[in-house]
Amino acid sequence: MPADDRPDSGRPSPAPRDLRSALRKGLRRRCPNCGAGPVFNGYLHVRKSCQVCRQDFSGARADDGPAYLTILLVGHIAAVAMHIIYFRWQPEPLIFFTILAVGSIGLSLYLLPRLKGAIIGFQWARRMHGFRNDPD
Ligand SMILES: [Zn+2]
Repeated sequence: MPADDRPDSGRPSPAPRDLRSALRKGLRRRCPNCGAGPVFNGYLHVRKSCQVCRQDFSGARADDGPAYLTILLVGHIAAVAMHIIYFRWQPEPLIFFTILAVGSIGLSLYLLPRLKGAIIGFQWARRMHGFRNDPD
């Protein structure tokens, strides 16, 4: 643990960051600091820094978190949709499978980058990992 992380290190603690704002900006796949620059270069590749405010993104460590959250959300939504579709319309099995497969894949592809942006926003707001020593 670096010496400046201790509560009694004598250094003033940095100003708190707004978590809700950072999560909202992350869900829009925008920089958690300025909200203007894109976080990703492509579908899921995190940029080195923000094009607008120069916020360094090298501290982002989303790892498997976005995939876990995506599976959690899509699984619950698909389970409810499966129940409603089956008991309301009772479609043919192949049509039923096709609706759920296309819906689940489409929803997963939609949610994955947004949840990754939100996790990066959360890490930035909480000064986790490489965002720990960012100046404001
Ligand atoms: Zn920015």
